[in-house]
Amino acid sequence: MRYISTRARPAGAADSSNRSFSEILLAGLAPDGGLYLPASYPRIGQSELAQWRDLSYADLASAVLARFIDDIPLDDLRPLIQRTYTPAIYGNGRNDSAANEITPLRWLEPPAPGRGEGGLAILELSNGPTLAFKDMAMQLLGNLFEYVLARNGEEINILGATSGDTGSSAEYAMRGKHGVRVFMLSPHQRMSHFQRAQMYSLQDPNIYNIAVRGTFDDAQDIVKAVSNDHAFKTRYRIGAVNSINWARVAAQVIYYFKGYFAATREIGGSGGQQVDFAVPSGNFGNICAGHIARMMGLPIGRLVLATNENDVLDEFFRSGVYRPRATSETAATSSPSMDISKASNFERFVFDLVGRDPDLIRQLWSKVDAGGSFDLSSLPCFARLPDFGFVSGRSTHADRLATIRRTHDRYGLVIDPHTADGLKVGSEHRTADRPMVVLETALPAKFEETIVEALGHRPDRPAGMEGIETLPQRVEVMDVSVGQVQRFIAQHVR
Ligand SMILES: *Cc1c(COP(=O)(O)O)cnc(C)c1O
Repeated sequence: MRYISTRARPAGAADSSNRSFSEILLAGLAPDGGLYLPASYPRIGQSELAQWRDLSYADLASAVLARFIDDIPLDDLRPLIQRTYTPAIYGNGRNDSAANEITPLRWLEPPAPGRGEGGLAILELSNGPTLAFKDMAMQLLGNLFEYVLARNGEEINILGATSGDTGSSAEYAMRGKHGVRVFMLSPHQRMSHFQRAQMYSLQDPNIYNIAVRGTFDDAQDIVKAVSNDHAFKTRYRIGAVNSINWARVAAQVIYYFKGYFAATREIGGSGGQQVDFAVPSGNFGNICAGHIARMMGLPIGRLVLATNENDVLDEFFRSGVYRPRATSETAATSSPSMDISKASNFERFVFDLVGRDPDLIRQLWSKVDAGGSFDLSSLPCFARLPDFGFVSGRSTHADRLATIRRTHDRYGLVIDPHTADGLKVGSEHRTADRPMVVLETALPAKFEETIVEALGHRPDRPAGMEGIETLPQRVEVMDVSVGQVQRFIAQHVR
């Protein structure tokens, strides 16, 4: 399996093309500014689907990932995957058959084929250590990093900025890993008490929390400045684990297969029974994995993209116009992990939509990178959008509250605000003949305030997390200063 950049110039000049999985694992953007994708998607036929149906999560993960990774011997890859997808890591303190599923499917309304009801379900993806779906890929990334770094005799210092979910997920994946240090910037006193406790209570010596006296954007700007200091970046082996990392997308493909098999178990998955997925979206990483699963031949009918008030992506799927917003135009909502102004993985999908034309991608993103927008509505490829299965919708604060209340009243289930966005939009696109599977992207315990607003009481906390706010915290508070952050890194990297 070879990987190419979405912006590679064809033939020769393309130093950014034709890489192996291990070569792009630790890389962010391709040198030409594009994103890496497989040169062609592996195809999974009906007979393989039938063979994969009853595999455990870890065995299914091995089967899927072996199609994307051919430069790590299977004898090394398999045990690494087995160590990653265990009920101890993804069971959320539970020890039952659901925990063994890793990503259990919960029917809200089971399918009733005779009565023309396709069913409505939630795929639980948030039972990992930080209670958000990002753990599904990040835990694997931690083990892959450690393996490849040891093999190459290298080290990496991961520098990132977080407003919540990504930072904690990265820290819990990298804690204690050989060859890896994490320097994670967060906005001082601007995250919830729970989020702060989750990150700052880690005592592992390879994890460094830095709280900057500023906003998330200030923190993000420091990370960009440090990464653009090429001498510093090389000397201190600075890397990232952001959502454009290809291995994260690849790891997310697995649960679309798992969810498909679970949703078709009773109604029979043979003969290409289709399933729809609704995905609460921000940077387009999660749903990009769904697109890839569909391109591989998994019978996905629709991919339903849900946004909150920050509806950059909904606007595109309705109109063909992609118009990233300025930070000042990005609203702070009650589904904060979807408050994005620019969808960093979107280029991967557009590359496929325009027939994998890197010249056109370079043209389109020269506008985006300059702060502009583009409009595909007059291009023939936009008419082919339905072939890719995408539909979209948006959800507001009032919708979230109403959906959380209704879900609690009807099904006795408390869902988080992001999952509520997905359920709201997914419900609008339900059909009679296909199950609708809504991807759960976080647990409600992470967003207590909104749950209290919707239901008048706090959500349950998973076992072991009741008192985390009282644990001792380890965090360095700093001014908004690139120099200060660089000095801190230099002091802590041998
Ligand atoms: C990251 C995140 C999202 C958005 O996922 P993308 O892959 O960026 O589209 C949605 N909900 C939660 C809770 C998240 O943490």
